[in-house]
Amino acid sequence: MLALYVILGVFGALILFMLLRTIFTKKPTLAAPDGNDYGLDKDVLASHLQQAVQIPTVSMVGKYAENTQAFYDFRAFLEKTYPNVNRIAERTIINGFSIVYHVKGKNPDLKPGAFLAHQDVVPAPAEGWDYPPFGGEIHDGYIYGRGAADMKGQLIATIEGMEYLLSTGWTPERDVYICFGHDEEPMASREGAPKIVEWLKSQNIELEFVIDEGGAVLDGSLLGINSLVGMVGTCEKGYCDYTLTCEKAGGHASNPARPSNLYLLSKAICNLEKHPMPAKWTPVTKETFKVLAPHMKFAFKFLMVNRDLLGWLIKPVLTMIPITNAILRTTFAPTMVQGSDTPNVLPPKSTANVNCRILTGETVEQVEAHIQKVVGKHVKVSHDLCNNPTPISPTDADSYKKLKGAIETTFDNMLVAPYMFVAGDDARFYVPVCKNIYRFTPFVYTLDDQKRIHALNERSGVDDLKKATVFFINAMKAMC
Ligand SMILES: [Zn+2]
Repeated sequence: MLALYVILGVFGALILFMLLRTIFTKKPTLAAPDGNDYGLDKDVLASHLQQAVQIPTVSMVGKYAENTQAFYDFRAFLEKTYPNVNRIAERTIINGFSIVYHVKGKNPDLKPGAFLAHQDVVPAPAEGWDYPPFGGEIHDGYIYGRGAADMKGQLIATIEGMEYLLSTGWTPERDVYICFGHDEEPMASREGAPKIVEWLKSQNIELEFVIDEGGAVLDGSLLGINSLVGMVGTCEKGYCDYTLTCEKAGGHASNPARPSNLYLLSKAICNLEKHPMPAKWTPVTKETFKVLAPHMKFAFKFLMVNRDLLGWLIKPVLTMIPITNAILRTTFAPTMVQGSDTPNVLPPKSTANVNCRILTGETVEQVEAHIQKVVGKHVKVSHDLCNNPTPISPTDADSYKKLKGAIETTFDNMLVAPYMFVAGDDARFYVPVCKNIYRFTPFVYTLDDQKRIHALNERSGVDDLKKATVFFINAMKAMC
């Protein structure tokens, strides 16, 4: 009986402790924006994005390998549209198509900062679009077309920001590089950003910070938060396509031997789904929830503030939701399977591609070892070009604080939180020349808008483009 009272007492004390901890975790007040829009004309900005979208800079791979003219046209468009940037900044063309603008600062002792964007877009066959994908038409306050969101919107906002500042006679304290790569979209391509970084290295340039796309401005209500949430990617998951190969004598399909080749391969894929990599709280995800928790509704807040004690309860729930699952573990996505190319022939070899996004702290080799263990001896695992997760950029760095300040100065009712970027972008190539790499896309995209990226009817709002430009002006003034 005494033991029962002791257990109940301990349990009660624990609940009380967690309740008090939740109550005493106070919500910091959000900074107020200064409302300055620098007198920007949103219609002029929109017309520039329209023109940018009209130039079909589809990445030069596969059947678009000869798409060089679009990139020359895009360069000419930038020359014509941004006279101050082209007059004041030194422009270097890297590897034929990537563009680097270098604006000299007053203080050569400060490390330079860099703002990135990519000129290329994914292909967009016209079928299914409400408006032509390379028309750049405006409807209901949105600019439609391939690249409107990914990422000519951000590219235009970046260079508009610099054009505005230079037109006012502004000179940055530190040198600023604006780097527009030309092959971000094809995962295996290494012709743009990696070559820019090689060039920076050859000049012995180390960067104080890098700002690239990624992250987003989310509606916080999804997380029980009564504000917008500006997610800043402070690290990026690794990427690897693993090939599963099963080799077993084929033969005629009229008298198949068992188990068949494809049975073994399918079983391997099923086993991978049943035995994922473990879910983990990485330092960056802990920080994400630490920042968000005080702003959440009580039930969410209770769970997140007491995450250390309630992890056993929270993790299984979060891993059921694809987006939170993706920030807690390495994910496996079987994307392609190949067997025989003839209906009545058993394949002597079958293969499957498993696309993996590797959690911060794990490596390509560790994941390969896990997959090999799970799929067993009949299936061989191999991989080609892969990259490990990036290091985590600090949130106590001056650059992060200033970036956060610029976001808060620009957007109303905005909570800024660091997080793990689960996709990929050019920023990862800058790791050798920079410790403070942040991914932030200053556009408010609804879930519907996000689904349009790389898909049909991609778009960006005219008002959002202006906001994004204001953000870059604020960020450049604060960080440079
Ligand atoms: Zn992109």
